[in-house]
Amino acid sequence: MQHNAPTGGHVSGAPVRGERVDAVIVGSGASGGWAAKRLAEAGLRVVVLEAGRARTDDDNREHIPAHTLTYRGRSKTPLAKTHPRQAESYACDEWNADWHVNDLTEPYTDPEPFPWVGRIRLVGGRTNVWGRQSYRFSDADFKAASFDGAGVDWPLAYRDLEPYYDIVERYVGVSGAKEAHPLLPDGVFQPPMAMGCAERAFADRVKARFDRTFTIGRTANLTAPLNGRAPCHYCGPCQRGCTTHSYFNSAFTTIPDAVATGRCTLITDAMARRVLVDRASGRASGVEYIDRHTHAVHEIRARAVILCAQMFESVRLLFNSRTPDAPNGLANSSGQLGRHLMVHVTEAGASAEFPEFPGRPSVGGPDRPNGILGIRFRNVPGGAPSQGFLRGYGYQGEGHVPAHTGAPGFGRPFMEAVRAAGPAVVRLQGFGECLAYDDNVCEIDPSMVDAWGIPALRIRMSLHDNERRMTEDMAAAAAEMLEAAGGRQVKTFVTPRWASHEVGCARMGTDPAASVLTPFQQAHDVPNLLVMDGSGFPSSGWSNPTLTIMALAVRSCDHLLERMRVGDA
Ligand SMILES: Cc1cc2nc3c(=O)[nH]c(=O)nc-3n(C[C@H](O)[C@H](O)[C@H](O)COP(=O)(O)OP(=O)(O)OC[C@H]3O[C@@H](n4cnc5c(N)ncnc54)[C@H](O)[C@@H]3O)c2cc1C
Ligand code: SF4
Repeated sequence: MQHNAPTGGHVSGAPVRGERVDAVIVGSGASGGWAAKRLAEAGLRVVVLEAGRARTDDDNREHIPAHTLTYRGRSKTPLAKTHPRQAESYACDEWNADWHVNDLTEPYTDPEPFPWVGRIRLVGGRTNVWGRQSYRFSDADFKAASFDGAGVDWPLAYRDLEPYYDIVERYVGVSGAKEAHPLLPDGVFQPPMAMGCAERAFADRVKARFDRTFTIGRTANLTAPLNGRAPCHYCGPCQRGCTTHSYFNSAFTTIPDAVATGRCTLITDAMARRVLVDRASGRASGVEYIDRHTHAVHEIRARAVILCAQMFESVRLLFNSRTPDAPNGLANSSGQLGRHLMVHVTEAGASAEFPEFPGRPSVGGPDRPNGILGIRFRNVPGGAPSQGFLRGYGYQGEGHVPAHTGAPGFGRPFMEAVRAAGPAVVRLQGFGECLAYDDNVCEIDPSMVDAWGIPALRIRMSLHDNERRMTEDMAAAAAEMLEAAGGRQVKTFVTPRWASHEVGCARMGTDPAASVLTPFQQAHDVPNLLVMDGSGFPSSGWSNPTLTIMALAVRSCDHLLERMRVGDA
């Protein structure tokens, strides 16, 4: 369909009275959008429950100038009154803070500070603000435990997911360059964005000296028209929306497609509270939700229940759906629910100046919404093991001429100093795989509820030695490469923090005693209950998760359709 209309089909708060639909899907983000599209287009009657509000064209704020905002976009202090946790993220600012949860009404607890940020309450979920980096996992990720013995393998291999990666990339529109690299399978790409001069020189020199590959980021920003969406015009701040729908957001794409079938009802402001279970059959019978505004309680009855609420929220729902038969949480007979929380570790790397590539900083654009990617090179299966840690990391970075905003003075001399010519700076930031640990968990906090009385989550996540040593290596290896490539004034940084890439807590597996979900993301304990977000990841891989989340969702939907066709669901 054409994707220029605002997201339609919202039925704010209204239940679908008396009807038993084929599938109820909780969440309208990356995974929920795909589940709705795939199932509705296959002929199923679908309801999507979305806790956030409807999205309109007024939510595209990327071109709103800072000087028109109350605080000129320069202070997060006012946002912190209602969004103290969300404002910790670079992607939550004066333009879009209202898309995020109010941390006071939707709290969580974290004995050791954990940034559960990017909690979006708007149709499209996190795809409104995501960084759009889109990478396929390889068998070095899916079968990592077989290579080094840590954790468990995925119950599927690259060949199982490959056709679904193709489907997703073709529709999403991922621009990128093919590299024929064993750790980063190539995909179906739109034309790649161009590298800058300093980036190209750096990549070529590192290839020659270390045989390591740096490539332009594979990003879900269009470089060619697709289904009525225009190519990106490089204005820069995608996390504030996109009038031309040039980056992938489920609110611009999968959700309108699902609604356009006439078989999908999207109910916004609908906070799913629990999965309903028929005790006689042990099967899920629907979802109970609370209207965000009226606090009225409603139910949607369905043949299949699909949770796509973002990993933490889906796991919270399962815990909050406990029954006398499942006192420790629904689908938790294995005791694995909430365990093995994994998040990529980042904020370590290095930067350097390249005086041979001088330029003037560009203040008004163009601003390429993408960077460069360094493909993992540590602990490559079959290669030499790295000292001190398992698995590996990639670098995301860029080369640009920075504005000298710290220049002294004021008035015209200051403005000229800010825009003064200078050397290009190349900065590399590592994003590394986090191992699956028993003590990195999420669970229900017995003493806290949200404003709707729904028990809140407690997240217990700490940095272990493997991740600590990995971040030190991210900085050291970046500095070594930058220096070898001709960089000057090399500066390292190691201030580890967690990226917004949370996965795990309901791992997939073939053994019901050791896993929560089947290889098709179906609960072992409740056959018509599926969890299609990142909850099922048995390990976190070294690269960003969302392309894999979407491919898995499509694969699991096709499996569900087949089961329904033969009367098994
Ligand atoms: C700043 C930022 C940058 C990122 N950059 C990247 C990147 O470059 N590459 C990458 O691969 N990933 C990135 N991610 C991660 C990516 O956004 C997520 O992996 C992806 O969106 C997860 O999809 P999902 O369907 O699980 O959840 P979401 O897309 O978050 O959608 C979940 C939806 O469920 C709704 N919901 C939650 N609870 C309930 C409930 N109880 N009832 C009803 N609805 C509910 C939410 O309101 C939300 O709309 C980034 C995330 C952030 C925050
Ligand atoms: S940079 Fe491109 S994708 Fe991002 S908001 Fe601007 S036009 Fe849209």
